[in-house]
Amino acid sequence: MEEQKGGLLLVMAHPDDESMGAGGMVLRHTRNGVVTHLICATYGEAGWMGKPIGAKPDDLPEIRARELEEAAAALALSGVELWDYHDGGVAQSDQQEITQRIWEHIGKVRPRVVVGWGPDGGYGHPDHIAMGACTDAAVAAMTEGERPALYHVAVDTQLADFYEQAMRLTGTSDGFTLRPQENVDVLIELDADEVMMKLRAIDCHKSQLEDWRIAIRDHPQLMRQGYGREPYIAVSSRSSGLTEKGLLGEFA
Ligand SMILES: [Zn+2]
Repeated sequence: MEEQKGGLLLVMAHPDDESMGAGGMVLRHTRNGVVTHLICATYGEAGWMGKPIGAKPDDLPEIRARELEEAAAALALSGVELWDYHDGGVAQSDQQEITQRIWEHIGKVRPRVVVGWGPDGGYGHPDHIAMGACTDAAVAAMTEGERPALYHVAVDTQLADFYEQAMRLTGTSDGFTLRPQENVDVLIELDADEVMMKLRAIDCHKSQLEDWRIAIRDHPQLMRQGYGREPYIAVSSRSSGLTEKGLLGEFA
């Protein structure tokens, strides 16, 4: 298939960021025929949530790469760039090089919209913060006529409340710093189909999210709060056409 240009590029740090952080937004686009690519900076080998029972730490990169491949299929992504920066060490890696590589990939897939992490890193993960800064720099370095619109994944008060409740249920509150945004620019509200498909993508990341899944599935209200809506911040948009359809306004 000939590579189509002009879609969406998501720049994330770990396998599962794409599904947990932006799965609904991705589905909203891919289901409407918008070509969507992903850059994932690490294999997620540090696995904040541990590793599957019986697996050796050495197995984790391969396990997570396979899980990402499955999630990419569930989200109907057109392409995945999986890089091998150290999980937990993105900020210590060569920021210039990462920025350059993102810049080159933007030049190759020519997205109209780039979505990355903001300076809060969603919940303060240093890899997210570093990747977000490199993404911002790469977009800013594009010449004006070729520069895509830029959005950040955001956490608003409702989502922060979801994370807090979910972490309490799973006992995984360490290392999270939630500073919810009061005002978001785009709130994508997912329909039942989209939530179901997003959960299917999240479920591909079994090595990380199995405990999370089990803890939350008995709480439908919490699931709707956490998975049914995705807030985004518009850093620079090319048109004023943003609607309740989300970023699709950019493609109208
Ligand atoms: Zn992450």
